[in-house]
Amino acid sequence: MIAERIIQGSGYVAKIETHSFVDGEGVRCSLYVSGCPFRCSGCYNVAAQHFRYGEPLTDALVAEVIAACEPDYIAGLSILGGEPFCNLAVTMPLIHAFRERFGETKDIWVWTGYQLEYLMQLHDERLKMLEQIDVLVDGMFIQKLYRPNLAYRGSLNQRVIHVPTYIATQSVARAIYVE
Ligand code: SF4
Repeated sequence: MIAERIIQGSGYVAKIETHSFVDGEGVRCSLYVSGCPFRCSGCYNVAAQHFRYGEPLTDALVAEVIAACEPDYIAGLSILGGEPFCNLAVTMPLIHAFRERFGETKDIWVWTGYQLEYLMQLHDERLKMLEQIDVLVDGMFIQKLYRPNLAYRGSLNQRVIHVPTYIATQSVARAIYVE
């Protein structure tokens, strides 16, 4: 029961940015989930570590995000946190609605504190979520490995991975999307 709560989260959204220029390639709609168990020192979004920060996800909010993704110049949806894989009550309805509307014509980027290899060996809904993602930025933020000029990540241990390539090849080296 506790494990299920950790996976589903409390269903809260910390923030939505309808025009982000930094959360992945192109202009994107970014949604920040609320709740993260990792407590990284130097976390870029401490407020969103709390599972009831912000507002609950509603059907209207999902519709708002999908509408924000409609313009041709919006490349896709980015999901950050908080921890997306501890918030399936938010991420799964959102990803489902996004794929239903846009199919593969727009992409989904997700930032997580988990490592890809850990997520790949799960046998629950989190693996199903992973399989819907185009690009995963993985690993906890580590302050002493912080570098100011890394693309889409904060510390050297984090990786920007093209998930379909990883699933097809089982090779992280081949699936690195941006060095
Ligand atoms: S994983 Fe991300 S949101 Fe969670 S504590 Fe670390 S930096 Fe903050």
